[in-house]
Amino acid sequence: MFFALDHPQATDAMKPAIWHILGAGSLGSLWATRLHRAGLPVRLIVRDAARLAAYQAGGGLTLEHNGQRRTYPIEAQTLDSDEPIERLLVACKAYDAERAVRALTGRLAQGADVLLLQNGLGSQQAVADAVPHARCVCVSSTEGAFRDEDWSVVFAGQGFNWLGDPYDPAPPDWLNDLTASGIAHQWTPDIFARLWRKLALNCSINPLTVLHECRNGELLDHAQEVETLCAELAHLLTRCGQSEAASDLHAEVLRVIEATAANYSSMHQDVAQGRRTEISYLLGYACDVAARHHCPAPALYRLRERLIGYLKARGLRTD
Ligand code: NAP
Repeated sequence: MFFALDHPQATDAMKPAIWHILGAGSLGSLWATRLHRAGLPVRLIVRDAARLAAYQAGGGLTLEHNGQRRTYPIEAQTLDSDEPIERLLVACKAYDAERAVRALTGRLAQGADVLLLQNGLGSQQAVADAVPHARCVCVSSTEGAFRDEDWSVVFAGQGFNWLGDPYDPAPPDWLNDLTASGIAHQWTPDIFARLWRKLALNCSINPLTVLHECRNGELLDHAQEVETLCAELAHLLTRCGQSEAASDLHAEVLRVIEATAANYSSMHQDVAQGRRTEISYLLGYACDVAARHHCPAPALYRLRERLIGYLKARGLRTD
């Protein structure tokens, strides 16, 4: 008691920072439940009072893993709560990230850590520009999760998380929280290489599975198309100074196609369920960069056109 009264700043310093999780969707829920399970302080941030009331009525977030289901009573709040944020995990889709983070800029402490889970490229820079007083850390995740109902997530695919800050190679001390939570991860000084590689794999596989309305494995019937895309993407990556991400791209794409032969790609699932895709941050981003670098990419441009036409015909957003 004496210590607490005389040295309030000392007790504050000993408090672990709260993990604020923006977006209680698939990945946000997967991270929130594992961090909470490890005894770390977690707050979910949901859109508005109606979503908060719905969450509170359900009693918490449920995680299903290896057939076991457990519900965790994680505290939640809305975007306009006044609790300051020192550590924010942004778990929205790429097209929602910037707007959602902008709504929190007033709550973000100077030097706060902002972790960006978004697939593809482009949204990370938009968020970083919106919060220049924070440290943005990009995450490239191969974990797989889906919502089986509201406030409930199934951990479907064991994977890995690469984390890195393009402007500062020093690893943050909160990586210990990930270790304590059993979140498989590694810090990398070259996160862009990881993000570009994943983007290239995605561009070589996902749009074709939508256009051919097929599982990943069936792309082996369209081997020439896949090979042409890989060649253009490898050339583009090299032009952008990402030669490591370009290396053996085609061989890895074929390995992924074979290893996930029975699966439908995430873009295929989005389209099948009438959801907006992240096209602008994947294939769209690659095409824009190719145009900016005057890098020939006729197959990529054609693929984007075909995909946009396909989405339009089904009344889905094309951006
Ligand atoms: P998701 O299930 O659709 O979840 C996104 C969540 O963000 C939703 O709960 C949504 O709220 C919330 N949200 C959006 N705008 C918000 C706002 N302004 N305020 C509060 N909440 C907001 O998406 P996801 O599958 O987790 O994907 C997130 C990112 O991770 C994507 O870029 C995806 O490509 C990437 N990723 C996903 C996986 C995976 O297995 N799921 C794997 C690797 C990478 P509502 O529920 O109210 O709409």
